[in-house]
Amino acid sequence: MKPSTLALALLASTAGLAAVAVSAQAPSELASTQTWIHAGRVIAIPGQAPRGATTIVVQDGRIAALHDGYLPAPAGVKVIDLKSRTALPGLIDSHTHLSSDRAGNEGLAAAMTDSIPLNSYETQWNGMKTLRAGFTTVRNLGDEKGKVLAYREAIRRGWVQGPRILDAGESISTSGGHMDGRVGLADEMHPMIGTENLCDGVDDCRRAVRRQVGRGADVIKFATTGGVNSGTGLATRIFEDEAKAIIDTAHAYGRKVAVHAHGIDGIKLAVRLGADSIEHGTTIDAETAKLMVKNGTFYVPTLSTVNGYLERLAANPNAYPPLIKKQIDWRIGITGKSLQVAFPLGVKIAFGTDAGVSKHGRNADEFEWLVKFGMSPMEAIKAATVNAAALLGLDKEIGTLEVGKSADIIAVDGDPLADVRVLKRMTFVMARGEVVVAP
Ligand SMILES: [Zn+2]
Repeated sequence: MKPSTLALALLASTAGLAAVAVSAQAPSELASTQTWIHAGRVIAIPGQAPRGATTIVVQDGRIAALHDGYLPAPAGVKVIDLKSRTALPGLIDSHTHLSSDRAGNEGLAAAMTDSIPLNSYETQWNGMKTLRAGFTTVRNLGDEKGKVLAYREAIRRGWVQGPRILDAGESISTSGGHMDGRVGLADEMHPMIGTENLCDGVDDCRRAVRRQVGRGADVIKFATTGGVNSGTGLATRIFEDEAKAIIDTAHAYGRKVAVHAHGIDGIKLAVRLGADSIEHGTTIDAETAKLMVKNGTFYVPTLSTVNGYLERLAANPNAYPPLIKKQIDWRIGITGKSLQVAFPLGVKIAFGTDAGVSKHGRNADEFEWLVKFGMSPMEAIKAATVNAAALLGLDKEIGTLEVGKSADIIAVDGDPLADVRVLKRMTFVMARGEVVVAP
């Protein structure tokens, strides 16, 4: 393939943004290309009042029409009966790590025993758990060796099933920072660990961003502070000129920037320099929240990481090295406090779990945490659809059920606006027009 042809093909496949092609067809042709859904109740645009009984017409992977009531389908057209259910737009998780959900000492052992090809199957396995849980889109914020970049491409080629993926490639940090895989390992192990994602100084940080863009990253992820799971602490681990170089370079290449930050100084630095989202943001104060509103910075709380910690520690009190365990105890104690500050002040919340720390396929656990710390079920659903779609830059493609958008449609029994926990039991999932979980 000539470079120009390849570039065009890549453009066409980016995030599945194909043009809607609705041609004039005879009824017999419609039968083979359309699917009609009869849904009892539809939260078509989260944040707005739900529709009652609705007929949704799906064609060529897109929503072709929404009609009030149950319209009889043309002869031969497949009809899916969701009359007893509530249908919603496919959910979006803005913060995943699909390549694994084994952490602590177990994760360390797996890195020794499992090959990259084997780990690639694990990536797909985790992706399918996520998709079957109703999460038809994820923003994957960091893995090693290009496993999720490869999975994203295999899905686009139609080789395997999976959610729509925006991927960050490898996460960036300074040497000795949160994404330095050598931290905590013996010096003799260091030559085995990749360091292209690490940067020190302005030029080097520009290089690190360009490297990920060149590998095909859709978004750039970096850390201004240390992290819980790396044992690098919570304080700022980057200089302002380095952080600015990363954000400005990413933006120059049309990539949004997700910033991992726990300590308040690292959060503030990222918000001030124009980060698109703050991930975890464990210590957001009112002053920073107001700046986030002013700058339009999204907050991705990742509260359900706590489930992963609690479950692992319940099974084995020594699941983590002592230094990391100490930081985990801090994180468990402080979870939700930032959301209680940021949400009432009007910060835009985008749903994200950090799945990988918690278990894949249990992404909907996050809804319960969001509601526990002050969001209504509708606001939490909006965070996982309308808001996350805006953060991902895909609001014209996903996030609501409207004509022309991708046919990412899910359904649950019961009323998620009364009890958000029903979202943990997905009874129908359609992704890009294809049925993944049949009713
Ligand atoms: Zn993460």
